[in-house]
This record gives sequence, structure tokens and C-alpha cells, in this order.
Amino acid sequence: MKIKLIPIIGLEVHVELKTNSKMFCGCKNDPFGASKPNIYTCPVCLGLPGALPVPNKKAIELTVKLGLGLGCEINRESRFDRKHYFYPDLPKGYQISQYEKPFASGGELKFRIQNSEFRIIRVRRVHLEEDTGKLLHRKIDGEEVSLIDFNRSGVPLAEIVTEPDIRSAQEAKETAKKIYQIVRALGVSDADMEKGSMRLEANISLSEIKEKGKRKKEKGELPDYKVEIKNINSFRFMERAINAEIERQEKILESGKKVQQQTFGWDTEKQELKPQRVKEEAADYRYFPEPDIPPIVLSDDWILKIKDQISKLPEEIYEGLIRTGIAAAAAKVIVGDRELAEKINGIIREIKEIGDIRDIGNWALHHQEMIKEKPVDELISLFKQGREGLVSDSGQLKRWVKEVVEDNVQAVNDYRKGKEAALMFLVGQAQRLAKGKADVSLVKDMLSSKLSSDL
Ligand SMILES: [Zn+2]
Repeated sequence: MKIKLIPIIGLEVHVELKTNSKMFCGCKNDPFGASKPNIYTCPVCLGLPGALPVPNKKAIELTVKLGLGLGCEINRESRFDRKHYFYPDLPKGYQISQYEKPFASGGELKFRIQNSEFRIIRVRRVHLEEDTGKLLHRKIDGEEVSLIDFNRSGVPLAEIVTEPDIRSAQEAKETAKKIYQIVRALGVSDADMEKGSMRLEANISLSEIKEKGKRKKEKGELPDYKVEIKNINSFRFMERAINAEIERQEKILESGKKVQQQTFGWDTEKQELKPQRVKEEAADYRYFPEPDIPPIVLSDDWILKIKDQISKLPEEIYEGLIRTGIAAAAAKVIVGDRELAEKINGIIREIKEIGDIRDIGNWALHHQEMIKEKPVDELISLFKQGREGLVSDSGQLKRWVKEVVEDNVQAVNDYRKGKEAALMFLVGQAQRLAKGKADVSLVKDMLSSKLSSDL
């Protein structure tokens, strides 16, 4: 009997929260803007003995907001715990995190994969912790040294953990993008992956399914190992890293061996997995309640107030744009930029003609920066002026289309052989004849119907 392997993937996403001060002290939270290392530090974030942590209320508010945005339940009572481990970037010897009682749990992400099928990925929890310092490995006077910068030490960090509901590298990428969009839409973090204010981790294992007969494992039962890939700083790299890991595990399992529980990093330069360490069990961290911070009790009123601040979320905005007739590709770009989405929605509310609304998507793609700068009423008149100057007279358009088809035999043949890109080339040629004044969507329709009819 043939055995099929399916990937079981969960994500952990860290985002640095946008607060003025750090998580447990009054130091400035601006690790990327700091002019020098170690300038935003004090006894608390340097882990000096006897310093007492005081939780940052704004950070808790942003974590609750994030939890609500991810559809979670907000726990009325939560607690901070100490997570113990030794590493030079963690001067206290433990990190203040949350273990048994996070601020939010049990959410869900619902989104379309490639504009078609709806997927639901459950969110296990959202908890709040402190970031570590940053180690820098340099060569000074011919000697390899490690330097440490504590500007980042104690910066509030929210961790989002999904259930292992993801079934492919592509789905993992879409899920991470979805989380990114929500984080940005809520304004809780800059989520800049290049700088590291958003960091991705994936847990991957493979589950066996017998192709004939019943599932070997009941739904919800997981393989007895998982491999972690840590500190990935782009969606694309995450997709590659997961694909590489799936391939590696397939080879091991197909040869009849067991996959070892392990942690990898992703080597951006070599574009390959690099082994880090054999994974510790959770018990190794010796979690226990943080004795210097009492449990945190949140009132219904306070949670409701935060709920009221949340504006529309990306999935809703996306569906709204699609309903007004904007093309999926344009809608995706618009939703990815909160400012742009607000402006476009403002314009759509004022414009009545359906045909015009359809073209706003395209127009937005070409004028994104301008749209963000100008007020809605000025944008509406600019949009209308742009359309007034367009040639939509079908006689004139037909003459241009005819000329283009006659002059570009090669591209016409390419298109007929199935090369879609050739159509846009031909549209471009017509636009050249029209000195940029042809109504592109009409030209495109005319060209494609002409090319498919006079075969
Ligand atoms: Zn400090």
C-alpha cells in the first residue's frame, strides 16, 4: 500500500509593539532609531539585581487589540511567567513571558488562497513578552568578537501562535501575510521584516496518510516530532525554507528512518537550512509565575473600549472592493496599504457609475503615492479628468487595433499560441499609436475578441 505524506505546519510570529517606552521600564522603545548602542538602558532592562519590572499598560492594550483582531477570546485574568534560559543577549537569565495564562487565545484566520478557496487557520494564542538584546559578531583588529547592544532588550514583543492547521509552504506564506496585514491594519507594530520588528518561525512535521482505506492517524493527532525553523525575515524565504524542510523530511521518512526533533535557521546568503540545536522540551525552561508582577485582571468595559477602536479589517475591506467590481489583483494591493484603502473607499463612496468604479482599481495601482497625498475630492476630479481625456470612440479604437494587429505578426502569433503576455504588448502598441489616450480596458477587449475571432 502506498503511503502519502502531508505537511503539518504551525507558525509563530513575533512582532515588536509600537509603544513609546519598553515593556517593564521607562527606557525609550526605539532600537532601530538609536544613534548608538546601549543608550536606551537602565537597571531593569540590563537585568541588574534588585531592579523591579513595571508592566507597560499601552503594550497590554496593543496585545489585546491584536488578539481581538485575530478573532481571539480575551482572557479576563492573565499572568506573566519567567522563562529561564542562558544566553548572552538575556542578562537576567530569564525572559518575562506568558505561559499558562496569555492575554488572548482561541482565534481564527479566515482567508482565500489564490482568490478562490476559503481556508480557516486557528490561532492558538497571543501572548506578551520582552525582546532580548542584540548580538553583533564582528572582526576587530583581526579578532572575532561578539558585541552586544541592549537597546532592544525589554522592547515589548507580542507572539502569535497558530494551530498546526497549515498544509503547504504556500499556505504558510499566505497565513503569515494575513497576520502581517492585520498587524499593520491595527497599527500595533511597524512589522518591518528587514529590520526585524516582525520575525517568522515555522514548525514542520509530516503525517502519513494511507491512500487506500482510512486515515492512519485520526484528525488532530500530530506526529511525535516537529522541526522548527527560526528567525525567518521574509515571506519568500519562509516559503523556500519550508519547502526545503518538507523535502528533507520526506527523504528521511521514505528511507524508513525517523526525523529528529531539531531547530534550523535559514541562511539567506546560501539559501539553505542551517542546523542550530536539538530542541529543548518546554519543561527545560522551568517556567514559573513572575513574583514581581501581580496577575493582570481586565474589565469587560476596558476590552469593549479597545474593540471599538478597531476599524475594518483587511478581509472585510477586500471583500467590499471585490463587490464594487474592482479586480482581485488591484484589490490585493489596495488592501495591503491601509492609507490607500481608506482613500479608495472614500472615492468609491462618492462615485456612482459602476464602469468608473471598476477602473479605479487600475488607476489606484498607477497613482498609489499621489492618492495617499491628496484629499478625496481633489482625487475624484483628477480621476474624472483622466477619464475625460480618454478616447473611447469605437471607430477610432478599431482603426488603431487593426493597425497594431497588422504590424505585429509575431506577437499576434505568440498570443494565439497561448502566450498571454503578448496581449499586453499589443495593448501597449495601441496605446503608443493613441499617444497614451486610448481607453485601455476597451482596447484590451477589442484586441482579444479580434484575435480569437479572425483565426
Ligand atoms: Zn530600561
